[in-house]
Amino acid sequence: MKLLLIKYGEIGLKGKNRHLFENRLIQNIRSRLKEYPAQVKLDSGRIYVEYEDPEVPQIVRDTFGLVEVCLCEKVPLELKFLEDKIEQMLQGYNLLGKSFKIETKRPNKSYPRTSPELSRYIGGFVLSKFPELRVDVHHPDLLIEVEVRESFYIYIERYPAVGGMPYSSAGRAVLLMSGGIDSPVAGYQMARRGTKILPLHFHAQPFTSLESLEKVRNLVRRMSYYMGPMNFYHMNLLESQQLIRESCNEKHFTILQRRLMTKLASELAKKEGALALITGESLAQVASQTMEGISCTNNASNRVIFRPLISFDKEDIVTISKAIGTYEISILPFDDACTVFLPSRVETSPTLGSILREEEKMDLDELFNLAWKTLVKEKI
Ligand code: ATP
Ligand code: MG
Repeated sequence: MKLLLIKYGEIGLKGKNRHLFENRLIQNIRSRLKEYPAQVKLDSGRIYVEYEDPEVPQIVRDTFGLVEVCLCEKVPLELKFLEDKIEQMLQGYNLLGKSFKIETKRPNKSYPRTSPELSRYIGGFVLSKFPELRVDVHHPDLLIEVEVRESFYIYIERYPAVGGMPYSSAGRAVLLMSGGIDSPVAGYQMARRGTKILPLHFHAQPFTSLESLEKVRNLVRRMSYYMGPMNFYHMNLLESQQLIRESCNEKHFTILQRRLMTKLASELAKKEGALALITGESLAQVASQTMEGISCTNNASNRVIFRPLISFDKEDIVTISKAIGTYEISILPFDDACTVFLPSRVETSPTLGSILREEEKMDLDELFNLAWKTLVKEKI
């Protein structure tokens, strides 16, 4: 079996609640690795994963809450084993002209040598075996770390992990999810901060196709690589849209429809014990995402609405979307419920007063119920 030593970040700062975060993290790693023969365990601020399959390190690196993943070797607490292992590990490198540094930690205080003593000792050993190396304690090419626990743990190769907080450790939220580029990225950003994501999609079948729903399902499948098994919710907005369209001033259609989506999402949040909503809105990106437009939408719900992309440029969003593997799905052609009744003109500076006057012309309960009764919950 091979061994990974994993460092996690902010949750180390969580004081009394630390064990809750650690337990969540361990559970998350175990569940992400459930298809692989692997052992995950925790020991004083470190997580260790014993594994066989070469895909495991990448899966671990993609686990929210982790900062660094190190390829590690473990030997019994005897200097001879330590020396042999370090010699063997260094043989894998071209060392000519390279510098190194030894860094030792000794959580196991019953081990007789102190960390500085041990570092000096190992440094001397390395220099005697590999005279082409030199010591550089400030900018070493190779940082050789040794941790003294019930065994010696040694690592030279380390890879950054995604960071953030353990998934599902910071509440749950309904993600308004279209088939576009932005909303999966918004969900990812919040999930990375520990939010459990409940994706909700509005379609307008038969105006929108079955393929477009399948596309959103595929986006949710990709998100579940990071977030584990998910519930995917969808509703048919068509009848409500038709009614809005019949009675409203066309230029307000988009905001009226957004407010209805927000109310439906809030109701789902209430039903599923979620405190917040998430959208992929980005300021001024499209006509409905002006500050006035967003304010009018915001007012449709009491629930907090997170907009993690509000300050992002489209280019930044695309970069993340490519990195997390949703981009290729998002750019497939599809028909969005939002664009079924695309008005020829959108009011970019709506006032809440004008929007509320529009809503007075409609039976809001009916609009709500027509969509709500079509709610479907699927396991992904
Ligand atoms: P996206 O790429 O996420 O679709 P966008 O830039 O195309 O974003 P809009 O289509 O105006 O922007 O939508 C803004 C936000 O409203 C989306 O990010 C999403 O959170 C929500 N939204 C839009 N359409 C839908 C839909 N059909 N179902 C659920 N939520 C939606
Ligand atoms: Mg969209």
